Amino acid sequence: MQSKVVIITGASSGIGAASAKLLAAKGAKVVLGARREDKLKQLTDEISAAGGEAIYQTLDVTQQADNDAIVKLAKDTYGKVDVIFLNAGIMPSAPLSAMKTDDWHEMVDINIKGVLNGVAAILPTFTTQKSGQVIATSSVAGLKAYPGAAVYGGTKWFVREFMEVLRIESAMEKTNIRTATIYPAAINTELLSTISDPTTSAGMQALYEAHGISSDRIASVVAFAIEQPADTNITEFTVGPTTQP
Ligand code: NDP
Repeated sequence: MQSKVVIITGASSGIGAASAKLLAAKGAKVVLGARREDKLKQLTDEISAAGGEAIYQTLDVTQQADNDAIVKLAKDTYGKVDVIFLNAGIMPSAPLSAMKTDDWHEMVDINIKGVLNGVAAILPTFTTQKSGQVIATSSVAGLKAYPGAAVYGGTKWFVREFMEVLRIESAMEKTNIRTATIYPAAINTELLSTISDPTTSAGMQALYEAHGISSDRIASVVAFAIEQPADTNITEFTVGPTTQP
């Protein structure tokens, strides 16, 4: 981990923030992106106070220019990028009959196009370096169908397919780009605050209160994937509470 340069999107809370803290504590230089600048500044200060190395830039993953800018910041500051953790996401789940069409489009823009924009920003750098690692946060909803998750789950199924083809093509093209996709179940973060449908929100709150575990658990598997030797690709992790059926 020492000296690795790691860009993290969705770093202002939850899984991204926990990963930033753990990776920095292990010696990585973390480059943090999200929309809420106050949260990013607070986290950067916390990491620095603990003796770690962190910088941040406000980032809206739906904007290609923002994704390009955070990659440029990392390269201008540290001269390279070793890992990009594409983690930003929202989960305004609801039955289709609720007709939350604005939410549908926002999920596609952030959870799908945000990943595309991040990969578009980093791929030329990783290809030139002939090394790099793309880690993405999918979801158990990207592995299995859940009522209320037609669009959210659909965006996370997309992440699975996209990351697997990225892995295969990178191997075929011998670019030494590693990929890891993470499928979390109930992890206690701010994610439920993105649900706008009251019935779905109440159901999810009950599920997370009964089962949710700390975002530190996902940070640990992110670190594990990065810490493998360069010739070893940890392709997928499914991580959730022991008690969640
Ligand atoms: P949080 O809500 O705590 O974190 C989401 C992060 O994404 C925040 O940092 C938020 O920052 C950022 N984000 C949202 N929209 C944008 C945007 N347009 N541009 C940049 N950043 C954005 O939830 P989690 O930590 O749980 O979510 C992280 C990932 O984990 C998501 O992809 C989620 O789908 C996935 N996941 C989570 C599960 C869970 O149970 N918690 C289960 C399965 C998957 P800001 O608002 O400051 O931009």
